[in-house]
Amino acid sequence: MNKASRARPSAKPSNSALANRLVEAARYNPDCICQRPQTKVVCSLCNFASYGRVLRSCKAHPNVYFLMDFSNCPKCKQSYRYLKEVPDDDRRLI
Ligand SMILES: [Zn+2]
Ligand SMILES: [Zn+2]
Repeated sequence: MNKASRARPSAKPSNSALANRLVEAARYNPDCICQRPQTKVVCSLCNFASYGRVLRSCKAHPNVYFLMDFSNCPKCKQSYRYLKEVPDDDRRLI
């Protein structure tokens, strides 16, 4: 009985490998929003504006969570529900 043989090295996918898998998934799944581009994000409560994405769960990957996405407004701390993604080229809104 060799206990050491049970310890398998856990092959963790690197971030780039995960990204590649998401790109593949997005290509085949129209519901996937994981690879949507960053855009202008505006808070409808305090008019905070930044560049990025609002936290949204992907229908195709409900367990995928992007730390970089805004889960709440950095300024007024309200829920991401009040944040809006607006087209980056529409500067009239700002
Ligand atoms: Zn997805
Ligand atoms: Zn706000």
